[in-house]
Amino acid sequence: MNFEKSFENFVQILSEEAVTPEISPSALTDIAKEYCLRSVVSIVSFAKGSEHEDEPDTVIPLFGPIPEHEVPAYYFQNNMAGDKIVTYNIYVHGDKEWSEEEYKSFSVLIDILSFHMERYLLNTVVRESTLKQYLTGLPNGGGFLAFAAKLFENEEIMAYDSFYFNLKNFGLYSRRYGIAEGDEIMKRYAKKVKTFCQKDEIIAHLGGDNYTALIKKERTNDFLEFISGVNVYGVRNGKQEPLKIGAVCGIYAIDDSLKDVGQLISRAGMACNYAKNVANKPYVFVNKAMSTRIYRQKQIEDRYEEALANDEFRIYLQPKVDTITGEIVGAEALARWFCNGIVIYPTEFIPILEQEGMVASLDLYVLKKACEYIRDWQDRGMPIVPVSVNFSRRDLSYTHLVDEIVEIIDKYGIDRKLIEIEVTETVSEDERVLMTNFLSGLKDKDISTAIDDFGTGYSSLSTLRDFPVKVIKIDRSFINTNNLSKNDEIVIKNIINMAKELGIDVVTEGVEREDQTDMLKEVGCHVVQGFLFDNPMPKQDFEKRLEKKYYEN
Ligand code: C2E
Ligand code: MG
Ligand code: MG
Repeated sequence: MNFEKSFENFVQILSEEAVTPEISPSALTDIAKEYCLRSVVSIVSFAKGSEHEDEPDTVIPLFGPIPEHEVPAYYFQNNMAGDKIVTYNIYVHGDKEWSEEEYKSFSVLIDILSFHMERYLLNTVVRESTLKQYLTGLPNGGGFLAFAAKLFENEEIMAYDSFYFNLKNFGLYSRRYGIAEGDEIMKRYAKKVKTFCQKDEIIAHLGGDNYTALIKKERTNDFLEFISGVNVYGVRNGKQEPLKIGAVCGIYAIDDSLKDVGQLISRAGMACNYAKNVANKPYVFVNKAMSTRIYRQKQIEDRYEEALANDEFRIYLQPKVDTITGEIVGAEALARWFCNGIVIYPTEFIPILEQEGMVASLDLYVLKKACEYIRDWQDRGMPIVPVSVNFSRRDLSYTHLVDEIVEIIDKYGIDRKLIEIEVTETVSEDERVLMTNFLSGLKDKDISTAIDDFGTGYSSLSTLRDFPVKVIKIDRSFINTNNLSKNDEIVIKNIINMAKELGIDVVTEGVEREDQTDMLKEVGCHVVQGFLFDNPMPKQDFEKRLEKKYYEN
């Protein structure tokens, strides 16, 4: 075989494979003959002055055995991305000496080899960095779960307690010292906290000021004591100031109810949340009540798909009433889950379905049912009112949602004006974009929309200004005080006036008493929904209401 041929072959093999070391023996076989190669060994090390300078070199054999205590006949060195250097040691058969020509052509081979080596090293870096928190270098959530999964497989996990902790006042340090020094403080904290950790334990940095850990059960008390105040320092105006960083912690004492390692974080996280927001204590263990809630949550997740297929969800309707005429002017469709003889309410299952990304299928199911009801009333020659259906904000990232809604309504052959879509106010900027697209998409298709729970979001005024909605539903918290004050009245009155001027209709939810409707009439809102008129009810009951059409005053 001539040299050019084997060279081509070498390049060909390298470029077909992503990883150099494993394939290089075959790639180098032909070349080896040309150059009398016995062994090629690559050594990856950190450059002098690099912060990793002290880390050990990595030896990767590329061809032949690794000769010991032998000076290579030739060596080449190349700089790699980052601060790495790769050295190639070449050992040849006998006392073969390369001509200048051969040396030059071999250095071309080395360059090509380095290019592939670089790719290989970068792959390794990426693989490792996905398991590390970029700032502190501690394992991240992925690293934690990988570590936990091994313990779980080996049935060693019960020897541990799982921790989720959140640093106290870290936001304050970031404000006081600035973001860059805040990062440095976090790094110092991480380095300190890591010193507690033994080889068979793990402390991971989830990001922000949240950490998780798996610590041997017998060391739990020591660990709680340790994280109650970790001494670090912050630098301000060139001076070091001592800091003691505390933490709020949730602990899950791992037991045999653990089904998957994700629960290590979610359970301890729930206890941490409880410690911080409810109990106001430095630490809380997962207890019975919490486990029951977790258990129920799990049950809801597990049974949902089957329940949807079995028609266990029923649609209740709550009338919307014009308080001046007493007429029913619409209805809201609300889901109820009849699960083994008990009713589960949406306040319990919706947040779980939202969290698990499963709520869209329910919302579309409710929409289908609402269309089916309207179609049925139409076919039976009954009076008809528009029905509104709730869509979760979590649905908004689902790209074909608008098309799917339109398709469902049209499939039932009903007037699009008979369906209204309710969405609650957004909480973040990102959501605003999705929300605008969703609402304008529906408007283009002649489907009207309502902002639900208006006034509880983070920017109600810009909601009014920016979103193309037909209706706002004022949240019941605006009227549910026992004695409505002048201030309540002023706020509601101004919302209503503003909405009216913008051509937006107003409905008020949660009306339970006469004095509330009186006040609402006074300020110009006469469409309401609430227990004063009716609770949400099954289809048959609602139809009886609809036949009468009016509530008596
Ligand atoms: P929402 O859309 O604001 O619905 C109004 C809720 O207020 C309903 O609770 C209703 O029963 C309740 N309500 C009505 N009148 C009164 C009253 O006078 N006083 C009081 N205290 N409450 C009243 P429900 O049916 O438990 O639903 C709770 C929430 O769950 C709904 O709030 C809605 O956001 C969500 N939801 C219900 N069904 C669905 C659904 O199919 N999909 C989605 N995404 N969310 C739904
Ligand atoms: Mg609603
Ligand atoms: Mg509401």
